[in-house]
Amino acid sequence: MKINPLNVFRRLVRFYENEFKESSAEINGKELKLADEIASLIDHILDSSEMSVENETELDIEDEMAEIDFNKIHDYWNDDDDDDNDDDDDINSADGSTPPSQPSLQHSSYRPSHPEKAYTFVSLEDKIKHRFKFISHRRYLYSWEAQIGDGGSRNNKLTEIWKETLAAFRRAKRQRLPIHDGDLRRFALTANKSAGLLGFKATLRWVQTFKKANRIVSRKITKFVTEKSVLQDADIQQAGVDFVKDVKPLMEYVGLDNVKNTDQTGFNREMHSGRTLADKGVKQIESKMQSANAMTHSYTIQPILSAAGVLAPKMLVVIQENSGKFGPIVKKSLPTTPNLVIRASKSGKLDKAILKDFYKEVFFTGVTEPTLLLVDSWGAHMDEVLVDECKPKDLNLNVRIIPPGTTGKVQPFDVFYFRQKKAFIKFVDDRVIIDDIPFILHQRNSLIQLQSLTHNQFCSPRFRAAWQYPWYKAGYLDERPPQFDTPVEFCFKGPGVDAGDSCRKCTDSMFLKCGWCQEKLCFAHWWGLGYDSNGELIKCHYCTHYID
Ligand SMILES: [Zn+2]
Ligand SMILES: [Zn+2]
Repeated sequence: MKINPLNVFRRLVRFYENEFKESSAEINGKELKLADEIASLIDHILDSSEMSVENETELDIEDEMAEIDFNKIHDYWNDDDDDDNDDDDDINSADGSTPPSQPSLQHSSYRPSHPEKAYTFVSLEDKIKHRFKFISHRRYLYSWEAQIGDGGSRNNKLTEIWKETLAAFRRAKRQRLPIHDGDLRRFALTANKSAGLLGFKATLRWVQTFKKANRIVSRKITKFVTEKSVLQDADIQQAGVDFVKDVKPLMEYVGLDNVKNTDQTGFNREMHSGRTLADKGVKQIESKMQSANAMTHSYTIQPILSAAGVLAPKMLVVIQENSGKFGPIVKKSLPTTPNLVIRASKSGKLDKAILKDFYKEVFFTGVTEPTLLLVDSWGAHMDEVLVDECKPKDLNLNVRIIPPGTTGKVQPFDVFYFRQKKAFIKFVDDRVIIDDIPFILHQRNSLIQLQSLTHNQFCSPRFRAAWQYPWYKAGYLDERPPQFDTPVEFCFKGPGVDAGDSCRKCTDSMFLKCGWCQEKLCFAHWWGLGYDSNGELIKCHYCTHYID
């Protein structure tokens, strides 16, 4: 959609004219600077094909040097007073059901994959003006009573939880990870596992107190994300529109279930270690990253999606190995993954032989009905001989090549799906680091497990509307699919997901809500990591049990 800056200004003038028309008309240096900044933002947006605004709220320390007085903290704290309304805390949900300040995923889900530039505005939302305002007499007595009651250890335990939580927070901040209230709760609950303070729930009230005392503030971050116009050439744009128009009658003929798109996307090492490091502790983090890099692999995935919003249960994964193949020992140690076909190559990308395997073992397996296949113009796809060699003899197959330069607009995987996949994996990746889960996510076997379990979640019938959406957005479907949650929204942020909730199978904090059965699981019980309390190896949660 075209933007006319004059319309924007007219609207802005209406916003401000009443309040400021009496003030000085002389422009000062600051105003000049602001105007220049806004002008360059608008210039940039005018040059772009897409613009979106993202808002996120995350936590940050206002003053690193703040001194903490532990005595005051314990006087102030009382575990059971969530419904106590005698302060001015801005608690969004006092019932504790949802932690406040969760970022809206609405926007980040639609982030263009290659933002040309992001303008970022940061403001301190609920800047804390005063620290401990009061310590009421009543609270003091409560706390004193409680201490005598359990031999004075309560304060020590609280201090331990407090210090641990703060350490975890600082660790995560140093790695530039986005931290929210829910993360603080999890840090505190985890800390209490070793402190063992009975009845400690890391209530929202506790989190608010913790934030105040440590000068942790919510930063509202507004980003203008733009994508450079790649479709400037009107001819190319027209080619995309024509392609969709040509394909639509064919789609009707074979039926939505038999219209398929398949495409590759790569995952690089850089994607996972690309964090900016803070000044403090740089050495330690750098060395950690380097050793991680040496053991990680670039890799490519190739899934298949139908216009009915159904993902093919099997997906191809190609892993980069220096020799171009898995050695015998590696081969033996690969995890069992029912939904992946795994290959190795020197580049971590597909070559002709692998593509052949893909068509034979993945794409055409079980396909009998007339099929319409949409693929982009990547060299090997165009090799009709290759596809022909692989397809079942009497299968009626129609292959349509998506015109070069239009995939961002008309290839369903590029329009929506791959961004969701990367968002989900980034979420898992961040949580592994935030929670200090002791293994490297991008070692060969971990990334295979990650792709297998993520693909399993994405295959849930719950996400059919989400996977139909790119077909609608690209113009192949006229009817908009019903409202949907993306997997990140449903599994990590949706209703019923609370950082304080426990795993259904153990006492650890939940990590995700299963897209199939809706069970809440900790990381270990999703991933299959370590041993349970009976000393049994924990199995991964590979789910096919759908509960609506
Ligand atoms: Zn568990
Ligand atoms: Zn499940």
